[in-house]
Amino acid sequence: MSPVATNLGDLDVKGLNVFMAKIGESRFRTSQLLKWIHQFGIVDFDAMTNLSKSFRQRLASDTEIRFPEIVDTQESTDGTIKWLLRVDSGNSIETVFIPENDRGTLCVSSQVGCPLDCQFCATAKQGFNRNLSVGEIIGQVWLAARELGQTPKTNRRITNVVMMGMGEPLLNFDNVVSAMELMMDDHAYNLARKKVTLSTAGHVPGIYRLRDTCPVSLAISLHAPIDELRDVLVPINRKYPIDSLIDACRSYVGSNPHDQITFEYVMLKDVNDSQALARDVVKLLRGLPAKVNLIPFNPFDGANYECSSRETIDEFRRELVKAGIVTITRKTRGDDIDAACGQLVGKVLSKSARRRSQHKMATL
Ligand code: SAH
Repeated sequence: MSPVATNLGDLDVKGLNVFMAKIGESRFRTSQLLKWIHQFGIVDFDAMTNLSKSFRQRLASDTEIRFPEIVDTQESTDGTIKWLLRVDSGNSIETVFIPENDRGTLCVSSQVGCPLDCQFCATAKQGFNRNLSVGEIIGQVWLAARELGQTPKTNRRITNVVMMGMGEPLLNFDNVVSAMELMMDDHAYNLARKKVTLSTAGHVPGIYRLRDTCPVSLAISLHAPIDELRDVLVPINRKYPIDSLIDACRSYVGSNPHDQITFEYVMLKDVNDSQALARDVVKLLRGLPAKVNLIPFNPFDGANYECSSRETIDEFRRELVKAGIVTITRKTRGDDIDAACGQLVGKVLSKSARRRSQHKMATL
């Protein structure tokens, strides 16, 4: 293999087409390769039997297919599986599979750590190291499919992908979009657009860009309906306040009125869980095709918050439901293995993480 081998795992359809043109092969090779790699999980060129021998030899000498490596697997009593994946010598990320009766959701990471500093999130406390490459993002789907022994008939099948793991996906826009294109490509994972969800803490320019380039299902980490409080809980709000966020959401669904935006709302005791704030949420979402997911806060070492009581969450929910907003309280899954929302940490090599993350915030 040449020292600068192209990693075919990093290439989406466009990238593979460019690569084929460069080496004088037809575009037809792109779909063949996508199928081998992503549908059959094959990375050994010799096994790709419908490619000519000379082409296989060329691929073997000039390219490689490299995805992250699993270093640990944990399975929760509720069936949730969490993989720790090494992405380079110092950094690891986490990916979570959440099986339900009628579907299997894979929660995928987009960055090593996160620069956004949301106050209630364990990933934020790790600081930020770097963006993940396309291969490191789609590799999470590739590895999970392989580990689950995915076949169309098993119930341990990936039917949905949520970009809700470590990191802020809109800050790694190009790589995340390329990976999502692969998730939806019928020669790769063949997921419908509605089955791929991107969750953002509110990077407003990224929402417009996503609308124009790859309008998958959108989830917004709202967590507070008023700027005063959201500025503290989700600091990116200081840069992109709630009004601008809601405008972006309106425009996101504008072109396709059947779409709905999911608003996530972590329930923090005595912080954002009052009835008055529930009424503010109702006002804020008026006229938007929206549903709300209330997420019971998942504690972690060093967290300064507690989860709201069951009764408070129910009352908050009732207020929203009364106003006609579909609201569900998300079931906590995988918390015994720290795989629940906001508990993903991986291993982030970054001594100056806090400093750098503050610098990042200033330059978003
Ligand atoms: N950065 C993106 C993707 C992460 S999604 C975003 O913020 O949307 C992970 C979801 O879990 C987000 O809604 C996040 O706010 C929420 N979350 C973070 N920490 C949590 C915690 N400790 N308990 C419950 N939910 C949490």
